[in-house]
Amino acid sequence: MSAIERMSQLFRSRQSGCRACGDCCRELSWHLHASDRDLERWRRLGRDDLLARVNRLGWIWTDPLTKELLPCCPYLVKSDGGTHLCEIHEIKPDICRSYPTQDQYNLCLNGVYLGPSLLS
Ligand code: SF4
Ligand code: SF4
Repeated sequence: MSAIERMSQLFRSRQSGCRACGDCCRELSWHLHASDRDLERWRRLGRDDLLARVNRLGWIWTDPLTKELLPCCPYLVKSDGGTHLCEIHEIKPDICRSYPTQDQYNLCLNGVYLGPSLLS
């Protein structure tokens, strides 16, 4: 299995019905927030590149130089097969891990039921 296929599989891991269209990341990623746990994880892993994309209020994802919010997450990648995947899936922010929440009836913005989050 190629690295891309593996990542695509990871992207869908909680999400048997997820079509990996990437719409949720494209539509919602301009107003996400990093949790304290995210910041601690990225510090521990030495991911200064991720930390540089957090502004002083904790909003992500920003331009590292200007700290302006980007219109779309820079870690959304399109595969050769046309599906989308998260380049940082294993260490992505908690807010991405828990999407969609029970408040959203575990339905993504395209109406796909994704089951409860395993985040504690
Ligand atoms: S919009 Fe829904 S189906 Fe598309 S990638 Fe996001 S969770 Fe998956
Ligand atoms: S970090 Fe990953 S899951 Fe979160 S918005 Fe970006 S591509 Fe999507």
